[in-house]
Amino acid sequence: MTPLFDRVALIGIGLIGSSLARAIRRHGLAGTVVAAARSEATRRKALDLDLAQSVYADPAEAVAGADLVVLAVPVGANAAIAEAIGPHLAKGTVVTDVGSVKLAVIRDVGPHLARGVHLVPGHPIAGTEHSGPEAGFAELFENRHCILTPPPGCDKQASERVAALWRACGSEVSFMEANYHDKVLAITSHLPHLIAYTIVGTASHLEEEERKEVVRFSAGGFRDFTRIAASDPVMWRDVFLNNRDAVLEMLQRFTEDLTALQRAIRWGEGNVLQEQFTKTRAIRRSIVEAGQAGRFDPREPEKG
Ligand code: NAP
Repeated sequence: MTPLFDRVALIGIGLIGSSLARAIRRHGLAGTVVAAARSEATRRKALDLDLAQSVYADPAEAVAGADLVVLAVPVGANAAIAEAIGPHLAKGTVVTDVGSVKLAVIRDVGPHLARGVHLVPGHPIAGTEHSGPEAGFAELFENRHCILTPPPGCDKQASERVAALWRACGSEVSFMEANYHDKVLAITSHLPHLIAYTIVGTASHLEEEERKEVVRFSAGGFRDFTRIAASDPVMWRDVFLNNRDAVLEMLQRFTEDLTALQRAIRWGEGNVLQEQFTKTRAIRRSIVEAGQAGRFDPREPEKG
């Protein structure tokens, strides 16, 4: 394929950044890929794995001459990075990101970009609970959605170029307002993670003896929660801090629905329970039919 960009600078080269590096290389989507990583260990790994031609400690150095910059760090790190790289971005550079929250990216990155630098926030709905450059793989984005949330007035050509990149990585691209994205993801991704962190936390508070039983019989549903609750703590801390309003709103609704089920259990209202479980089963079937049910491999869950 003809390269879509001359020089791509990946800021952050963990699970998502390294998967993108691999996909870009596999499909020949950029002339050059460079990266910036915070720790010496990650920089060394990225070079050992041949993920980029050069790997810099300073993100400002990495973005020099880049026509695409991808922020692939926890969303709470974006503001400081944008401040550091802002003065070094050439006119016409496209800046995108992969963060799980979108309004916060526009808030934190936008003010640091000069006129003529185009911000096209993005979120690949693909991931695993693993982190770091070794965890990535080129196929991660295949047959997955990628949501782009260009702010009002965003350069059309810039957002189309970012869309083309994700399509070339195998994703189906959707455009959405950042606000709407954050609401949808609050219920489909953020709340499920919060519930998983809570259930696993509750189990860990049980007495030692019972905890052994928790591990022993975990196949009964709990195991899936432990997998989600093994997700990166820093990434998820930042998601909740940066999507606070939408998550709190969904949590309120969830709490009300949970109370309704609690009531049905207390009063033996089997019909209420059965009706609810029948509806949710239909939702699962529609996800399977849409091809979004994951790989059926417990080691490689689909997340986002
Ligand atoms: P990851 O594997 O933990 O990699 C994070 C990268 O960011 C590493 O290179 C890390 O450097 C760097 N980093 C962390 N904190 C930093 C800081 N304060 N300043 C500068 N660099 C920093 O994380 P990931 O899963 O790729 O997630 C990256 C982004 O993708 C997040 O915004 C997340 O919301 C989004 N996302 C994740 C998933 C998922 O399932 N994991 C799915 C979709 C989107 P060091 O290694 O040197 O610490």
